[in-house]
Amino acid sequence: MPPVSSRAGQPAAKICETCGRPYAWRKKWARCWNEVRYCSDACRRGRLRHGFKPR
Ligand SMILES: [Zn+2]
Repeated sequence: MPPVSSRAGQPAAKICETCGRPYAWRKKWARCWNEVRYCSDACRRGRLRHGFKPR
């Protein structure tokens, strides 16, 4: 399997505002990539810094 480094039609990766890590474009974000600012639902829900603490 070749690496997916430069696949046509895929936007560049972004940096999660919560955990600060880069995350790649996903199919589920195809329609709302412009609005996506977090890498996952957990990061989107709360501003987690170091570690996730569920109640
Ligand atoms: Zn994140």
